[in-house]
Amino acid sequence: MSELLVYMNGEFVPESQAKVSVFDHGFLYGDGVFEGIRAYNGKVFKLYEHIDRLYDCARVIDLKIPLSKEEFAEAILETLRRNNLRDAYIRPIVTRGAGDLGLDPRKCPSPNVIIITKPWGKLYGDLYEKGLKAITVAIRRNAIDSLPPNIKSLNYLNNILAKIEANAKGGDEAIFLDHNGYISEGSGDNIFIVKNGTITTPPTLNNLKGITRQVVIELINELEIPFREANIGLFDLYSADEIFVTGTAAEIAPVTYIDGRTVGNGKPGKVTKMLMEKFRERTENEGVEIYR
Ligand code: PMP
Repeated sequence: MSELLVYMNGEFVPESQAKVSVFDHGFLYGDGVFEGIRAYNGKVFKLYEHIDRLYDCARVIDLKIPLSKEEFAEAILETLRRNNLRDAYIRPIVTRGAGDLGLDPRKCPSPNVIIITKPWGKLYGDLYEKGLKAITVAIRRNAIDSLPPNIKSLNYLNNILAKIEANAKGGDEAIFLDHNGYISEGSGDNIFIVKNGTITTPPTLNNLKGITRQVVIELINELEIPFREANIGLFDLYSADEIFVTGTAAEIAPVTYIDGRTVGNGKPGKVTKMLMEKFRERTENEGVEIYR
């Protein structure tokens, strides 16, 4: 099979030749932004929401993306078409571009725009039936006044430290607390708990404004399940009836163990399963057509 093509600044380049300069500040300093998007069944799910977030994040780091949002959307669709993909994970990246060895972004005149697309299945394999083991980690989520977790930046070291810790402790996913001890999010997903029929998720000041999180909130409202956005502490987490995490890659994944404690009866809960089913229907039927 021939190699997949990667979009690089307007050109389509075979994966093995898709390279950036070692002087790119994305590489040197994690200076850049990215997205994770998915296509299901020939349609890109929440394409414009992901593009909006990418542009918002770029604006926060004062990075001008050299394409309009419409052009960016079309570049994503065209990359999928060139690779003949219908079900895929899509990774748009905008780096600061090549500069000198100093930090100053003003020395980087041309951002690099890259779009990688890959066939993709389930992130957590059979854990959608069994449930994940989650571990709260010692490393705290980046403070909102140092590196706001709302920025989906190329600097994911905070998340990687969490993942390393969860791996070492035998967890499938890491759950961050913030500096106040409030539950923030997973290393790559948002978190929800269910208690006595009410669903709670933390507000988005100390975590990524997840697009899946937003879809799940819409589903919760459609199903008329009591819902609130509120700070969650360890007590709420450990005493929850159900816990689940949400993300583009993770989708909706049940958590059945938290810090060695069984959640509910140790199986994915009723509410979680209902939301998983509704979410699957949405992703199968909704989205921007790739092959128009
Ligand atoms: N939090 C973090 C840290 C993430 O990396 C992700 C994945 N993008 C999420 C939450 C979930 O966001 P989304 O639902 O938009 O994929």
